[in-house]
Amino acid sequence: MRIHLSPELHRAIGEHGVDAYPHECCGAMLGTSAPEKTVTRLIRLDNARSPEDSHNRFLVTDRDYRRVEREAAAADLDLVGFYHSHPDHPARPSQYDLDHAMPWFSYVIVAVAEGRPGEMTSWVLAESRARFEEETIMPKNGSGPDEEGA
Ligand SMILES: [Zn+2]
Repeated sequence: MRIHLSPELHRAIGEHGVDAYPHECCGAMLGTSAPEKTVTRLIRLDNARSPEDSHNRFLVTDRDYRRVEREAAAADLDLVGFYHSHPDHPARPSQYDLDHAMPWFSYVIVAVAEGRPGEMTSWVLAESRARFEEETIMPKNGSGPDEEGA
């Protein structure tokens, strides 16, 4: 499994994480789902949780969810998944993330340590829904640099 994310969008997710630090940021990822998941647009979402616990939990409200679905449909794009940051925590999904994940969507997590963007990972629910499987984040749309001229 893999997801294509351009260096510009990779950087934009990190910047959102830095803007929100020490709280979690979250946002939606729009793009195409076939032949492979490719993110082409990001939508920043307000973290809907109360300020006291927004540093370790994120929540996408039903209203946000409907809004990004509408925006995706209007742009003829798919809702590919969601991203959020882990301030001063590794880019590994928490139990909360697992409990609130929906099938098929990609969940990108960026670690933000002391206000600087760090490791970024992407996860999808396993078929059992009991755990996540990690996806490889591909830095470019289409063929990678090692395929050029092949
Ligand atoms: Zn999380």
